[in-house]
Amino acid sequence: MVSYKHLGDNLPNSPEVGLYRSSRYFYSSSLLHSHNMTPSPSGCLMCGSDLEYLADPEEMECSYCQQKSLSGTRCVKGHYICDRCHRMDTEDLIEVICLRSTENNPFIIAERIFSSQKVKVHGPEHHFLVPAVMIAALYNHTQETGKKERGIKIARHRAGMVKGGFCGLLGDCGAAVGAGIFISIVTGATPLSREEWRMANLMTARALEQIALHGGPRCCKRNTFLALQEAIRFLVKEMGIRLPEPGGIYCRFSDQNTECLKERCPFFREPPFEDISGKR
Ligand SMILES: [Zn+2]
Ligand SMILES: [Zn+2]
Repeated sequence: MVSYKHLGDNLPNSPEVGLYRSSRYFYSSSLLHSHNMTPSPSGCLMCGSDLEYLADPEEMECSYCQQKSLSGTRCVKGHYICDRCHRMDTEDLIEVICLRSTENNPFIIAERIFSSQKVKVHGPEHHFLVPAVMIAALYNHTQETGKKERGIKIARHRAGMVKGGFCGLLGDCGAAVGAGIFISIVTGATPLSREEWRMANLMTARALEQIALHGGPRCCKRNTFLALQEAIRFLVKEMGIRLPEPGGIYCRFSDQNTECLKERCPFFREPPFEDISGKR
């Protein structure tokens, strides 16, 4: 496995890290720091770095829920994770990050979630991540933030029905289903609807086709990116709503994924990545 340890100093610290030259987006600040998929229990949950303890507590903003509180502990790269977020499981964390986000760019919200070492490279949490991120971005965009919480909770319940391995075993990738869940929720579709039913199924179909055309083996990162891209395009074409769609999206998870398609994946790029975000 290639060591990316030397890249650590160039990595951004803020959850908004995805911003790089040419408005390109990279993913996973965190996993690069460590070969070990399991975060060290004593290290930073975002990047795995050592923690530092301040003599005097300071007001710090939690990198996940963005709430401010006094703390005497942060990682040496400046991350602070509040106690509540520290104790959360992955799906709670997805929920909190999406609820607290104010961005209308789904890829920035997804990046914040991926920066947590609690999110595995592959796993059924991506089935919930896709609709949660899209619901948050859409309602942030339309300034209907009061609808976020209910929508995200319904998405979590429905995504829970989509178990791991659906892609290969049922021929229906959970990231594509997640996109369909998103449209079903925001249009209020039911099995008896007409237009809403058409749209929800069409959304799944469009995402699933893109996912299928790239072939296997499964990659929850590739398929999440594809599902988000198709959901953004669907909103433009079918609902006239234009969320930001980043032009270049690159994945940093390839060294964590032994089945990575590498050059055959549209999001693959050889390191080193250059951080010009200039952010803290
Ligand atoms: Zn950190
Ligand atoms: Zn927090």
